[in-house]
Amino acid sequence: MLSMRAGTSYNGLMNTSVAWANHVPWMREALIEAAKAVAWGDVPIGAVAVRDGVVIGRGHNRREADADPTAHAEMFALREAARVARTWRLDGVTLYCTLEPCAMCAGAMVLARLRRLVWAADDPKGGAGGSVLEVLNHPRLNHRMEIIRGVLAEEAAAQLRDFFARLRSADPDLG
Ligand code: ZN
Repeated sequence: MLSMRAGTSYNGLMNTSVAWANHVPWMREALIEAAKAVAWGDVPIGAVAVRDGVVIGRGHNRREADADPTAHAEMFALREAARVARTWRLDGVTLYCTLEPCAMCAGAMVLARLRRLVWAADDPKGGAGGSVLEVLNHPRLNHRMEIIRGVLAEEAAAQLRDFFARLRSADPDLG
């Protein structure tokens, strides 16, 4: 089960409604990106990287399509953003993800010196943004990024629920 939480920011700042509303259109882009994964039987997870009001990277989960355990949406979005920005350092970039990142992707975000991460649904089974592990803004690491969680969480969770419900109806053994 995916849990949803009201939006909170790890830096302790309250999200103003104006700032919150600004993130919604970009998260919609990430949800559209996530939907593309389903065509290959991949879990719908999407990400878009935004700099100065422009999308400079996008990606969706391609683990099944590419037979690659590292083919996560966030990795594609980060790599494309770095290509466009011509630097590995993404300290001017906001990454929008439909799901709380795993340990690998969270590690990549730290390596990229990402400025801000916004995610939709929490992942209580594997989230490295605090749900299971605390890779982001770990007290022993120098890098700090702004984190905003819960933007369009209900939509993202519904997208995932629908995907797994269809899987189960296709193969009742998956229960
Ligand atoms: Zn990941």
